[in-house]
Amino acid sequence: MADDCIFCQIAGGKIPARVVFQDEDVMVFRDLTPKAPSHLLVIPKRHISSLAETDDADSGLLGKLLHRAVETARQEGLDKGFRTVINTGPEGGQTVGHLHLHVIGGRQMTWPPG
Ligand code: 5GP
Ligand code: ZN
Repeated sequence: MADDCIFCQIAGGKIPARVVFQDEDVMVFRDLTPKAPSHLLVIPKRHISSLAETDDADSGLLGKLLHRAVETARQEGLDKGFRTVINTGPEGGQTVGHLHLHVIGGRQMTWPPG
């Protein structure tokens, strides 16, 4: 756990979040400032600073995160579709330095994003 990491603190129950799922490896909670009617974040409980910091040994965990995104969309009733996003690094638009996968839906998405 990184003490100065907000998502580690959420994963550790030290600061509150609207958690919708957790197991030993993964947590899902609602984004504080949602960009759509459904906006959830899927995170590994272990601190990984970004997707760029993962390697082959993380394949299982990455698969688990992706699968959890699908389950989360199902739970949210996003049967008409949803968007999954992983922002990586400053130019990728990452603002929180703990790997997270956005699940966004409940309205029409546009492409490309800004
Ligand atoms: P990024 O820009 O790094 O891809 O996404 C970070 C996301 O985390 C943003 O959508 C932001 O609204 C969300 N966020 C930042 N701080 C908190 C927090 O303390 N709690 C929750 N639930 N979401 C947060
Ligand atoms: Zn962290």
